[in-house]
Amino acid sequence: MSFLSLLARNRLALAGLIVMALVVLLALVTPLLPLADPDVTNTGNRFLKPFSEGALLGTDHLGRDLLSRLLWGTRLSLAVGFAAAVIAAVLGAAVGIIAGYYGGRVDNLIMRGVDMLMAFPYILLALAIVAALGPGLLNALIAVAAVNIPFFARNIRGITVGIAHKEFVDAAKLAGMGDARIIVSEVLPNVIPVIVIAMSTTVGWMILETAGLSFLGLGSQPPQADLGSMLGEARSALITNPHTSVVPGVMILIIVMAINLLGDGVRDALDPRLRSGALTRPMAATTVRRKGPVPEPEGENVLNLRGLETQFHVKDRIYRAVGGVSWGVKPGECLGIIGESGSGKSVTALSVMGLVASPPGMITGGAVHYKGEDLVGAPYERLRSLRGREVAYIFQDPLATLHPLYKVGDQLVEAIRVHHHVSDKEARAKALGLLKDVRIPNAESRLENYPHEMSGGMRQRVGIAMALANDPEVIIADEPTTALDVTVQAQILSLLDTLRREKGLAIVFITHDFGVVAQLCDRVAVMYAGRIVEEGPTQMVLDAPAHPYTRRLIACVPELGEGKRELHAIPGLPPAVNDLPPGCAFAPRCDKATEACRQGEIALEAHGPRKLRCLFPETELEAAQ
Ligand code: ADP
Ligand code: MG
Repeated sequence: MSFLSLLARNRLALAGLIVMALVVLLALVTPLLPLADPDVTNTGNRFLKPFSEGALLGTDHLGRDLLSRLLWGTRLSLAVGFAAAVIAAVLGAAVGIIAGYYGGRVDNLIMRGVDMLMAFPYILLALAIVAALGPGLLNALIAVAAVNIPFFARNIRGITVGIAHKEFVDAAKLAGMGDARIIVSEVLPNVIPVIVIAMSTTVGWMILETAGLSFLGLGSQPPQADLGSMLGEARSALITNPHTSVVPGVMILIIVMAINLLGDGVRDALDPRLRSGALTRPMAATTVRRKGPVPEPEGENVLNLRGLETQFHVKDRIYRAVGGVSWGVKPGECLGIIGESGSGKSVTALSVMGLVASPPGMITGGAVHYKGEDLVGAPYERLRSLRGREVAYIFQDPLATLHPLYKVGDQLVEAIRVHHHVSDKEARAKALGLLKDVRIPNAESRLENYPHEMSGGMRQRVGIAMALANDPEVIIADEPTTALDVTVQAQILSLLDTLRREKGLAIVFITHDFGVVAQLCDRVAVMYAGRIVEEGPTQMVLDAPAHPYTRRLIACVPELGEGKRELHAIPGLPPAVNDLPPGCAFAPRCDKATEACRQGEIALEAHGPRKLRCLFPETELEAAQ
C-alpha cells in the first residue's frame, strides 16, 4: 500500500494534510492576490473591525490591512520554520551519523559537544544566540536551527549506532566499499525515515519558537510582518481590539495543529509496526467475545481444542486467522500441526494460553480445555498461573526470546522462580539440572554464558530447558527447529522425543516440514487457511494422503536416495484470511476442484482414525465409524 493511502486512512492526519496544503498554497499564491500593501500605514483607518469595507479582517494599530499582513506573515513564518527544520535536520543528522558510524573517540568528542548545547535551557540558548548575533529574522532562524541540532543529533546517533553493527554494513565493508559510500548507500536510507519523522514532529515547534522570538522583538523587524511580530504588536490592544491578536493567533493555532496531526500520521504511516497495533500495549490476555454454546471436552486429552475461532479485527476488516480448529493431545503423545506460512498455526498455538495480542486479536468461539477446565475466558490470574507451569512454549528464534543482557543461568532461575518459591541456590541447582537434561555439555560454565555466546542449537536447547523449567504437562513448540541447520535440527528433535518419553510430556509440534513430522509425531493435523483439512496418524497420512493439499505438501519434501524426481511447488498462494472463498479454501489451487467444492461449507468428517475435509479424496477411505 502506498504511503499516501496509508496516511489517508488516518482521518485526523488527512485533515491535517488538507489544512496544511491549503495554508501552503495560500502562502505560495499570496504575491499574486490583489491584496493591499501589508506595510503601508494609514492612521486614519486604525483598528477597523473585521468585515469593514476594503479590509476583510480589519486593520491594526497603524491602519495596515490585517488580511494582507496575515498572508504575508504566514508566508514568512512558514518559510523560516521550515528552513530552520531542514537546517537542523541536515546538520543534526550529519553530526549524528558521523558520531554513530565512527564511534569511539569521534563519537565521544562530538556527543559531549552536543551535550553541552543541551545543558542550556532551550529558549535561553536561542535568546543568547540572537543576543550575540543581533536581532533579525535571519538570526532568529539560525538560533532556532542551532538549538534544535542536538535533538536531531542525539536521535540519529542512536539509530546509527544500531545500524553500523548490522550484518549488511559488515558485508559492504567486506565488499571493499569506503566509509563515505557505506554511509550514503547503507546507513542513510535506514535513517531517513527517522529524520522525516523527527522533522514532521518538530516543524510545529520551530514555527512556534520563531514566532516566540519575533514576539519578543528579536525576529522579524518592523514593518515586516510575521505571525510572531503581529502578535507582539497587537499585545497592547489585546483588550480594546482583540481581533488584531486573534487573527495571527488563530493562524498559528491552525498551522501548528495541522502540522502535528500530519506529523503523527506520517510517523504511523512510515512505521508498519505502529499500524498493526504491535506497539500499542496489548492486554494481558486475549479478549474473548464468544457467541454460541461452549463445547464440552472429549476423550482423555490433557489439552483439547474444540471449534476454536480467533480473529483479528483491523479497522473494518476481519481476519479469520483460526476458523474453528479442533484437536487434542494425550499425555506422552506428540501432535504435529503442519501447513504453509500464514495458515494459522501460530495463532492457534497462542490462543491456547490467551497470548494472542489484543487488540487486534480476539477469540470469538470454541473452547480450550486443559484437564477439563475451559481456558477461554478464564480469569487472567488463572491463565498466568498456568502459563509456563502447565503449558509451556518453545518459539522459533531463541535469540529473540532470550534476554540479550542476562546470563542464561539467571534467565533459567527467573523462569523457575516465577512459579516456585525456592531459594536462589535451589533454583540454580535446578537450572543446572535442566541444562544437563537438554544435553548441554559443560553445563556449569554454560550457566554463566550470555545468549550471544552460544550457537543457535545451544540457544534452542536453553529455550527448551526454560520450557521444561516448571515441569509442564504440555509443550507447544512453534517451529523450534526452523532456524537451525539439519544436523542440529535432528539433535533437537531426538532430544524432544526422549524428553517426551522420559517425562510423559504432551507435545504440540508446529512445523511446515513433513520430514520433521515423520520423525517425531504420532498424529498430524494439516492446516489450511485457518482450518484443519486433514488429521490422522502420521504414518497413515504420509503413506496415503487423502486431501489434495496434504498430497502436495508431501510432494514438496525431497528424500535421500530416491533417485530423480521433480519437486513440485504448489502453484498459487494461500488465500487472504479476511476474504475467504465460500466452500473449500484450497479449491482455487486444487487440480481436482469442481463447482461443488466452491459452494457451501465442507465438513471435517471422520473416516476411521482419519478426519478429512474434502469431497474428492485422493485415496480410498475407511468407512465412517
Ligand atoms: P503461521 O501458520 O505461519 O504460524 P499465523 O498463525 O502466524 O501463521 O498467522 C495466520 C494468519 O493470521 C495470517 O495469515 C495473518 O493474516 C493473520 N494475522 C496474524 N497476526 C495478525 C495481526 N496482528 N493482524 C492481522 N492479521 C494477523
Ligand atoms: Mg507461525
